[in-house]
Amino acid sequence: MKTITLVSGRLTPKALSVGLVAFIFLVCVMLVSAIAWQLKQSADERLTNAKIAVRNIVRASEQQAQDTLRQAESILSNLAERVENDKLSNEQRVRLSNVMANNVEATDGIQGLFIYDENGDWVVNSFSSETVAKNNSDRSYFIYHRNHPGTAIHIGEVIFSRTTGDMIIPVSRRTQYPDGRFSGVVLATLPVAYFQSFFERLDVDKQGVILLALNNGNLLARRPMIDALMTTNIAKGELFSRYLIHSDEGTATLTSVVDGIERVYAYSRIRGLPIVAAAGLSLDSVFATWWTYVYHASVMVGLIILVLTSLGFLFYRQIQRLLVAEEELRLAHRDLEHIAKTDSLTGLPNRRCFDVRLAHEWSRACRTGNSVALIVIDIDWFKQYNDHYGHVLGDECLRHIAELLNKNINRPADLAARYGGEEFVILLPETELAGALKIAEEVRSTIEAAKIEHRGSTAGIVTISAGVASNHQDGVIVSTDLVEKADSLLYRAKKRGRNRVEHQAREVLET
Ligand code: GH3
Ligand code: MG
Ligand code: MG
Repeated sequence: MKTITLVSGRLTPKALSVGLVAFIFLVCVMLVSAIAWQLKQSADERLTNAKIAVRNIVRASEQQAQDTLRQAESILSNLAERVENDKLSNEQRVRLSNVMANNVEATDGIQGLFIYDENGDWVVNSFSSETVAKNNSDRSYFIYHRNHPGTAIHIGEVIFSRTTGDMIIPVSRRTQYPDGRFSGVVLATLPVAYFQSFFERLDVDKQGVILLALNNGNLLARRPMIDALMTTNIAKGELFSRYLIHSDEGTATLTSVVDGIERVYAYSRIRGLPIVAAAGLSLDSVFATWWTYVYHASVMVGLIILVLTSLGFLFYRQIQRLLVAEEELRLAHRDLEHIAKTDSLTGLPNRRCFDVRLAHEWSRACRTGNSVALIVIDIDWFKQYNDHYGHVLGDECLRHIAELLNKNINRPADLAARYGGEEFVILLPETELAGALKIAEEVRSTIEAAKIEHRGSTAGIVTISAGVASNHQDGVIVSTDLVEKADSLLYRAKKRGRNRVEHQAREVLET
């Protein structure tokens, strides 16, 4: 008991066990929650940083495309103005070709400049001042301008240059007669490679992407380059179908329709041009180091939980052992208490138990004024019994008498005890002398009726003598007076022939 108290303070070991399990569980849950929260924060942070990075890449691409196209627009406007207002003699064509070649030379991102007449025949180009007998009336930009009045520039889909064989983006403008009739087309070719090489200089991961596309979803340039660039349309992808229809710029996490890779994208419609710029970093690269962090954190948390639960288990087992020890101690204590109060031969309460109960009942009777009675019993001629039958049978006889005594005790508060040797006492709380006398008589007659053979006795059977006293008698002032009184009455019973019950009122009752 002492050990339990020292270990647990005011807690019982059982409460301590439950508390321990709950505590470890709570610590584990808190630990996992804290790490999960931390990981979530870190993931959010990485995503935010990735969005900032792709937005910057988009801005750079957007700027570069805008600069190049504005320059092309400006050059084409100048060329159109010349074509529309000047009659081009052969000499002027040569000069114009040189001017166009200089323009190409001076402008990054423009590979060639061309002037076509209303039939699509080549009039002047920046590659050669010689007359070239070629016709471009089949090109879609030519057909477009022939059918669409207006002087805005037109950016066409990627095509292969008939001059260089390179993939180019055709940027064109219509020229017309003073009356508005179609007079031809001026064209600037922008090599896709120019945009590619710019994209290569920007910082995206291996699975990252940077692209320029027409508003209809046709790709103009893309990093990484794909072979089917000219025929790839991304209008059905989430970027166009879900995001660009709602906003002109923003960020989104989505899966590419081209390569199926999941990326965080930034996108933007280029102001004043029918072009969209977008860039994406693959989630794999964004979260690559994060996953390592998750792995390390999980291993660490796992180890901590393992150590915690192991320690908890050891502690729990220790408490269980304490519980078992406590129970054993409690049982031992109960046994000891029983042994201390019980007479080993007869199983009746012993003298010590009787003394305690007598003191208790005596003080109670003093408080309440109730009566308490005592019967002192002694077996007659027991020495002779021993002498005749031996001690072993003498013991057996004592046990038998104890049994018979117990049988005559009915109320739970009554106590039959072995006082010592072959003497017994019966304590009867809240019992008047008459009641006690009745019980003593019953005990005596029961033993007599049992007819236990006793050849050493004049009666031939075992008998008892008894003295009965109560606290309501003269001369009984303290509890020991009660014992002495009953004992002296017992002595009188012996003297008066044994096998009888003596009490002070006897003479009164008999007369
Ligand atoms: P009386 O009628 O006057 O009481 O005669 P008695 O022989 O009973 O009186 P006495 O007190 O002289 O003898 C008591 C005997 O009881 C002495 C002892 O041998 C016996 N005795 C006491 N305790 C035990 C016991 O535990 N076992 C056995 N077998 N005998 C016991
Ligand atoms: Mg005796
Ligand atoms: Mg005796």
